[in-house]
Amino acid sequence: MNKIRILPQGLRNRIAAGEVIERPASVVKELIENSIDAQAKRIEIQIEGGGKRLIVVSDDGIGIPSDELHLAVEPHATSKIESEEDLFNIRTRGFRGEALASIASVSRLRITSQTEGEAVGRSIYMEGGRLLEDTPSPHRGTTVEVKDLFFNTPARRKFLKSDRTEIRHIIDTVTETALSEYNRGFRLSVNNTETLHCPQAGNLRERLLQVYGEEFISGLHLIELPHLQAFFSKEDNFRINRSHQYIFINGRPIRDASLRHAVYSAYERILPHDRHPIFFLFLQVPPSSVDFNVHPAKREVRFSDKEGVYRMVRDSLREVLLPSSHEHVKPLTPTTSTAIKTGAGVFGDYQQDPPSAPPSMIEEPVSGYGHIEHIYLGDVFLAYSDGEGLTLLDHHAAHERVIYEKLLKGMDIGRAEFLFPRQITLSPSDYTTIIQNIPTLEAVGFSVEDFGSNSVLVRSIPAFVSEDALQGILEDLAESIRDISANSPVEELRKRLAMTIACHRSVRGKKRLTGDELRALLEDMEKLDDPEHCPHGRPTRLRIGIDELKRMFKRT
Ligand code: ADP
Ligand code: MG
Repeated sequence: MNKIRILPQGLRNRIAAGEVIERPASVVKELIENSIDAQAKRIEIQIEGGGKRLIVVSDDGIGIPSDELHLAVEPHATSKIESEEDLFNIRTRGFRGEALASIASVSRLRITSQTEGEAVGRSIYMEGGRLLEDTPSPHRGTTVEVKDLFFNTPARRKFLKSDRTEIRHIIDTVTETALSEYNRGFRLSVNNTETLHCPQAGNLRERLLQVYGEEFISGLHLIELPHLQAFFSKEDNFRINRSHQYIFINGRPIRDASLRHAVYSAYERILPHDRHPIFFLFLQVPPSSVDFNVHPAKREVRFSDKEGVYRMVRDSLREVLLPSSHEHVKPLTPTTSTAIKTGAGVFGDYQQDPPSAPPSMIEEPVSGYGHIEHIYLGDVFLAYSDGEGLTLLDHHAAHERVIYEKLLKGMDIGRAEFLFPRQITLSPSDYTTIIQNIPTLEAVGFSVEDFGSNSVLVRSIPAFVSEDALQGILEDLAESIRDISANSPVEELRKRLAMTIACHRSVRGKKRLTGDELRALLEDMEKLDDPEHCPHGRPTRLRIGIDELKRMFKRT
């Protein structure tokens, strides 16, 4: 073993930097937070080279006095707290005094700033934490320029992802902050292209509109209470993943599994399996009842009354969701109709919906299948016999499989062309993803054009997708694309998109199949590589042969 020694300050700072500065988006987060603490009304962010090459954040805040500028980049230097008591009554975003020192130690950093009272401001330039320049400079507010992040820590630089991925993280960070501070203006440019522009807004709803557009917001409920403002999915507006779930405490974005759970529990019995609600929760709690100092990036918090907050969130959402939820609740009722009774012992368990109409007995000659009768059990399952046994078919699962394979193989799926192209406004992050993948989307039936300002024009969609769900499906597609790692093969991406489309709620009508439709479906299934499983691997049909029936009835 080597001798014990105290690490030099520069190295200590670089190690500490690792806790706060993980990637370009962390730099953006810290710098915007400083601008907010400095009471800026307008904050501008410019990004080049995925933020690895350049990040510039400018604000019109109170500025840093010239004689304090060199202190701002010292570790543990802050103007925001003075004593330990202050730690329990934090009203600013920052307080640890670590961000600028950390950023300075792993980049080439220039800070230019001037306060209102000063005739001329000051500018300092540092490389890897060493001060190289300190000069007077006229300025308004504060501009921080971070070049070549991690240039002196190649090991960390190696962990950074593609520009695209880093940009996505930056967009997420700016979006999140813009949501939490509606009364400040934000502008984000990536490679000189404006990606997000939110002028100062009068309220939260207006800010959400600026970021997401009218259509998105119309799918959300709204609660406005003194300590809780919430926008959350209406009963038929769910997503395939957890995108667009945000929690803010006193304006600070946090992650909190318990509060997220509170939301899910408000949706109990409404939320279909595999689906997720959109939600934006804005909680106001007394600063003294929450501890932000448990995570270096201040991402996690500790509440003094955790259960109380949990119940408040769950109950407030429930109050809105429950009155209208009865029609969505599908209890497992024992069935009464004769037609179903006959099979109850065997497939009673598959029964989900009480039949709304008497089960239909449809007799049709089915080409290739001879003469097939089919009978519906609820709205999802149907049973038919080929004379040699009984087949139970989950027609939705089968339909999903057919669509999935057709999309994968580039077969004709039938397209619906809009007479007038539909204009859809997306979140900056979804927009960026969609326009980067236009050819891939084309291959799975969506003709999309870039229309600027976070909106796209959709000219045609697969015929089986319902037009009403266009916004939701584009968002889900964007999310699926992002879930795929940047270096996965194109086929992987296409598979994933085919699955997203095939299994999307907008494709899954509640309609029962007529004899002709069933015949068409069965014929389609004949041509599949794997007709027996839906894209998620669940069975599409179960067959019980005569021999098996005999065994079940102990007739052998
Ligand atoms: P913290 O935000 O935790 O105090 P930082 O390292 O982020 O620590 O910043 C150090 C100090 O520099 C801040 O306390 C603040 O006084 C000053 N400062 C940083 N950025 C700005 C800004 N954009 N405008 C005004 N002052 C700033
Ligand atoms: Mg700070």
